[in-house]
Amino acid sequence: MAPYSEEYEILKENTKPVSPQAAPREYTVVYSVVLIFVYWHIGALYGLYLGFTSAKWATIIFNYLIYVSGGFAITAGSHRLWSHRAFKAKLPLQILLMLLQTMSCQKSVLNWVRDHRLHHMYCDTDADPYNSTRGIFYSHIGWLMVKKHPEVIRKGRTIDMSDLENNPVLKFQKKFYPILVTLMAFILPALIPVIFWQESLNIAHHVSLVHLVVGSHMTFAINSIAHAFGSKPCDKTISPTQSISLSLVTFGEGYHNYHHVFPFDYRVAELGNNYLNLTTNFIDFFAWIGWAYDLKYASPDMVAKRAKRTGDGTDLWGRAIEHADIQAKRVHPS
Ligand SMILES: [Zn+2]
Ligand SMILES: [Zn+2]
Repeated sequence: MAPYSEEYEILKENTKPVSPQAAPREYTVVYSVVLIFVYWHIGALYGLYLGFTSAKWATIIFNYLIYVSGGFAITAGSHRLWSHRAFKAKLPLQILLMLLQTMSCQKSVLNWVRDHRLHHMYCDTDADPYNSTRGIFYSHIGWLMVKKHPEVIRKGRTIDMSDLENNPVLKFQKKFYPILVTLMAFILPALIPVIFWQESLNIAHHVSLVHLVVGSHMTFAINSIAHAFGSKPCDKTISPTQSISLSLVTFGEGYHNYHHVFPFDYRVAELGNNYLNLTTNFIDFFAWIGWAYDLKYASPDMVAKRAKRTGDGTDLWGRAIEHADIQAKRVHPS
């Protein structure tokens, strides 16, 4: 029996699931995560109240800066740099992104990347960690509150992570993640306001939960809202969508239809370096000072051809267009 079951296992592992797929399943709730989320959300609401009533301005500005820098670390670091290799980063930028990413408390980069590569490879199937076929709540936050689907675990083992496994910055983060995340996401954001401008510990801690919760929902929204509402200028046959308003609050990550079609593009958008795509500006800035290099992007011709072939006939703004006129006229410095 052994050889047969081995072959069967190999066959199962090599079979690519077809989307949309959401086989009936029993959910095993992870109560510890549910409790943490409940505490975070109630604490963040209290933090918001304190922010409006008694927090010092320095505390609010400090947390806003953490929110913005943690957001960029997710969008530019975990996503565009490490998940998609859309550009390369020198060591100082990698260390900076890793530390800021730790502040956002969204898993270690290696875990984040494995989930995200699964999402792209097996989008909207049982092997997709945030399978949007299971509904908006599941793809937004529900997937974190239940045990992973067996297919996610099975296919997760086959995801190629060889480019990152020996990355010393990411290995360091993964090895010391529990300590690092406690320090960077909770202890320092609570203590710095207390030490440097005499904020109360209660206010400092609860206001810091606001940026943690808002930042998490910013990432979650890409997996849920950007797979549910919006236009599909590049490929109307897939669930990811394009949304300017979502791009505004996610530092340029709302061009999700384009992104699923051209995941290697560091701009994650047709127009790239436009004022709505803050992460692209962030990467461009680091390219300008020499810390980011080898920026990859799809040629306007490639985008136009693909949009003409499979797009829904809308442009970046969701307006109907003539396909021949589509997309970027931008020429970006390599
Ligand atoms: Zn992606
Ligand atoms: Zn997606």
